[in-house]
Amino acid sequence: MSAPAHIDSLHFAKSGSELSGQLKVDQLPRLRDSLDRDDVAVQYRISGLTADGRPALRVQIEVEVWQTCQRCLERFPLSLELDEVLPIARTAAQLSYWEDLDPLLDALVAERQMDIAGLVEDEILLGLPTAPRHPDGECEVLALNQ
Ligand SMILES: [Zn+2]
Repeated sequence: MSAPAHIDSLHFAKSGSELSGQLKVDQLPRLRDSLDRDDVAVQYRISGLTADGRPALRVQIEVEVWQTCQRCLERFPLSLELDEVLPIARTAAQLSYWEDLDPLLDALVAERQMDIAGLVEDEILLGLPTAPRHPDGECEVLALNQ
């Protein structure tokens, strides 16, 4: 059985539901430049829980993305393992109240038909490094120029 494409996010969080699945590159259009066509899939798991008294979704993602090294401009594969807990606000007003209390909070507004692929895509985009680089000493072009 394949995982559903949408969940009722608040109900999912409150009932402590869990689901896991895979997404393919063509389901993640905003990541097309970062994922290889040959990449099998993005692995994800979503669990409902209570965090600091708020209903929340824990989102765990494993994916290999292709990044361009800012030092040598070569593309290289980067393994990302993301694990985020996202509180679910009942309304946009509640979300902005929470964000006033904690400007760094990463929270969602409840949706009856939350798009799982969109959520996973958002989290991967947030998890990408701002200045990706090979580990020190692994830039081949730079090494040749020395
Ligand atoms: Zn490099």
